[in-house]
Amino acid sequence: MANYEMEIIHHNLDCKCHRRREWIEVDGKMTAIEFSVKNPDEPPMSDEEKQKIAELIKQTRKELSQRK
Ligand SMILES: [Zn+2]
Repeated sequence: MANYEMEIIHHNLDCKCHRRREWIEVDGKMTAIEFSVKNPDEPPMSDEEKQKIAELIKQTRKELSQRK
């Protein structure tokens, strides 16, 4: 079963890229996004932030589907 909590991605012990994975619901489907944070103490995304990104993803998909 998938875990939809924010995950910290460890590449190796020396890696300082602070990579994370967050799950965002887009059109009823859980979608994973990966990104790096500058500050490892930064809290997980709020629902509001996730909502904004979901809108961006939907907008991007729409634009891509309209491209000929
Ligand atoms: Zn890394």
